[in-house]
Amino acid sequence: MDELRDALRQGSLSPERRHLTHNPGVAGNPGTFAPGELVLLLDPDGKRFLVRLAEQDALHHHRGAVRHADIIGRAEGALVRSSQGRVFAAVRPRLVDYVLEMPRKSGIVYPKDAAHLLGWADIAPGQRVLESGVGSGALTLALLRAVGERGHVVGYELRSDFIDLTLGNVHAFGGALAGNLLVRERDIYAGLVDGDLDRVVLDLPEPWRVLPHLPGALCPGGWVAAYTPSIIQASQFIEAVRADRRYVQVETHEVLLRGWHLQGLAVRPEHEMVGHTGFVSVARLIAEPWEPGKPRRPT
Ligand code: SAH
Repeated sequence: MDELRDALRQGSLSPERRHLTHNPGVAGNPGTFAPGELVLLLDPDGKRFLVRLAEQDALHHHRGAVRHADIIGRAEGALVRSSQGRVFAAVRPRLVDYVLEMPRKSGIVYPKDAAHLLGWADIAPGQRVLESGVGSGALTLALLRAVGERGHVVGYELRSDFIDLTLGNVHAFGGALAGNLLVRERDIYAGLVDGDLDRVVLDLPEPWRVLPHLPGALCPGGWVAAYTPSIIQASQFIEAVRADRRYVQVETHEVLLRGWHLQGLAVRPEHEMVGHTGFVSVARLIAEPWEPGKPRRPT
């Protein structure tokens, strides 16, 4: 007991729970910047530059060059100077920073929607999640991070060029995450070859066509989520979910994110916001069909 109390006082937990303590080997607490890493350079005006560190390279800014060699070996949060004395803060990019900059050929699930989907479809560490289609891999990255080291993401994607793009993007952000991803070149409407799934996440034009394949593959109690740019698609998905009579907790959401400008007396919403991305629908599979009550009429 005393040992545990001492350990806690020193800011670490018991030896058996080392993985919860500060550990330079664990993602989230990495050491100094190394060649090959992604770094986000922020200038005092809030401009952002995402660079991959290489000994001989430099970021060419109109206020001078920032040599990567001046960043390599430094700790996160360090200030570095360009050749003309401009100061930059060097930090590791958030997944959000990376996703908005990475190469894409498809529409992507925007971070505000991905975050919402992770919450409402209850994506958690250790789960086995099936995703289709993978597109550019934006949602794949969010899923991989949420399922963690012991979890798995299986992607079904029609197009091999999208598979290459996703694998490239996932490897480029964090090689460690890529080990838990398997992408199959498949048409999901033709059926599933994977089972024991805790979650199924759909971002394709006709998500309702996947529903007949879910019983037997998605574990009862598991969630299916569909991201659809149009409310007609969301409606058709939800009608199909209801007609199936095997789902509970059926919901569709739209996420509106409004940034605020806070500066002195100028305390107001940002002038511009993203007006539309897509709708997130979720539903939860039960063991067998039932007769749910009629939806309540609005009063
Ligand atoms: N969620 C992705 C974007 C997906 S775009 C992201 O955040 O980056 C939709 C993808 O679904 C496309 O790549 C398309 O090729 C794929 N797709 C469409 N129909 C499909 C099907 N029947 N089976 C598998 N993939 C499909």
